[in-house]
Parts: sequence; C-alpha cells; structure tokens
Amino acid sequence: AQERYSVLRDKKCVTADGRHVQLLMNAGLMADLPSLESSGAEGVGLFRTELQFLVRNKMPRRMELAALYARVLDASKDKRVIFRTLDIGSDKVLPYMKPQEEPNPALGWRAIRVALDRPGVMRMQLQALLRAADGRPLTIMFPFIAQYEEYARARAEVDTVLVREKRLGHSVPEKLEIGCMLETPSLAFASERFFREVEFLSIGGNDLKQFFFAADRENERVRRRYDSLNVSFLTFLESIVKRCEATQTPLSFCGEDAGRPIEALCLAAIGIRTLSMRPASIGPVKSLLMRYSLTEIRDVIEEAKLRGEQSVRQAVMEYLRDYS
Ligand code: PEP
Ligand code: MG
Repeated sequence: AQERYSVLRDKKCVTADGRHVQLLMNAGLMADLPSLESSGAEGVGLFRTELQFLVRNKMPRRMELAALYARVLDASKDKRVIFRTLDIGSDKVLPYMKPQEEPNPALGWRAIRVALDRPGVMRMQLQALLRAADGRPLTIMFPFIAQYEEYARARAEVDTVLVREKRLGHSVPEKLEIGCMLETPSLAFASERFFREVEFLSIGGNDLKQFFFAADRENERVRRRYDSLNVSFLTFLESIVKRCEATQTPLSFCGEDAGRPIEALCLAAIGIRTLSMRPASIGPVKSLLMRYSLTEIRDVIEEAKLRGEQSVRQAVMEYLRDYS
C-alpha cells in the first residue's frame, strides 16, 4: 500500500469534481521532519510545540528552543509551518511543573489559560519562535481559545515581544500570521469582529467533539459513543464553515478525524478544504478523495439528513461501495 501511495506523493489532492483539498501534516518532534518530504504534505498544519516540553525533564531554554524551531523552518523550506503555542494541562502534564489537582482537567486550567495566567513561558516561547524565524515568514496559533478576550490578550503578548525584539536589534518576520484553534463550541459563536480579526482558524476536532457531545476523549466508556459523522456535529461544523466564508477567514481541520479517509471526505464535502493529519494518513486520504466528487458526497450527506438519520456514515459508505 505504501508503494501505491508513493505514486500519489507528488500529486496535489484534487477531487473528481476538480476541487483542491490541501493536505497538511501534524508534527511536534524533530523525528517528524523527514515526513514533510516523504508524505507529500503541503505544509505543517499543526506543530504541537508542547511535545518538546514533554520529552524533557526540565524547562527548555530559549536558545535551545530557538535552535529547534529554526531546524523545523529549515526543513520545511517554502512550506508553511503552523506553530501552536504550548498546549499543556489536561492530559499533557509537564514533569517539572507542579501538578494541579483538578476535578475536571479537560475543563480546567490548561493551554492558553495557563499561558495567560503565567505569561513567562509563552513570552519565552514567542521570543524563541521570532528568533528562529530570523526574518522569515512565521505562523503562530493559539490553543483552546474560548472567547475573544483570550485571543486579544494572547495577540497583545506577541506584539509586546515583537516590540522588545526590535528594540534589541533582532530581525522580525517579513510576514507574521496569527490564528486560533477552534476547539470550544463557544468560539464558533464569537463576534463577527473576532472572525474578521483572526487570520485563520483551525478546528481541533478532538477537543471540539468532546465538548460538543460532553464526552471525555480520554474515557474509554464514552469516547467512541458519538460518531464524528453525527448529523448534529456536521451541521455545527457547517455553521463554522459558513461564518468563515462570510468573513473570508481561512479554515482548516487538524483533529484525528482529518486523517480518517471517510471523515476527511465528508469534511471536504461540507467545505473544509484544508486538512491536517498524521503523515501516514496523507496517502490513504488522498487516494480516497481523488476518486470522488465532493458535490455528490454533499448530496449524499444532505439526503441522509433529510431522512432523519443520526449519522451520515452509512449513507456515505453505501455510496462509496455502489460507486466503485
Ligand atoms: C484537537 O483537539 O483536535 C487537537 C488537534 O489538539 P490536541 O489533540 O493536541 O488537543
Ligand atoms: Mg486540542
């Protein structure tokens, strides 16, 4: 199968009805970098920076991080890398930070909430990213933004660090893009102003789904109970697509579902045309997407909705089977 996919590696993912679906990869460790070439990914849609913090037994230093990020940018050449700032807490606990006893860690003090309450680490990380870019374009994404104010404060942190870097005589990126993860339902209902200001959004389907269905992604008893192709969830995702289209906000999806071929097909069909996934999923996803028409899949989804089905999965699977 790997060989079959390698034939597709240098081809763009274009569906049977001529739509380009951009396939990006998720990464986080230096070991992931060779996959940028070998998978045929068009870029890194999610670089989980916390992994570098999790594999150490003490807080990494700024210069050390800057060197790592520079290697990532060197390896990516002209492809864009979206660096997500530190996303810790909940399931990701740093061995050198005092653990927080919380009754509901997934709903607790995590990600941007920690970063805004204890800004020292995020400032250090932002500085490391700016120095790594050394004038090259840079893309930064904030995790777990639940309301406008968190985005505005995080963005203000970037501005503060930028001013300081300039004052110190360091170069600043020729282009700096700042976006947010959309992983709490609240953000989908944020003001028009938020959608206009943010430069891009990436749906973190793993978290978004757990909050949408109130089903802990870590809890074996409930984590597979709700289908990602559940009609309510798809309808919710479609409403996000509509808001992004209305404000011309680039939208991508970077949860695990992006790497599952049938899910990826449905996400693309409802209008999410940038998907970020683990590198090994790019071949299988591309191979499926290139065989089908998104317009037809969209019709299959609409019909299943009209029939009152709970999930569109069966209808889509039947269509794929009949069609091939
Ligand atoms: C997500 O929540 O879908 C996501 C991509 O982030 P993580 O899995 O790292 O929480
Ligand atoms: Mg998440």
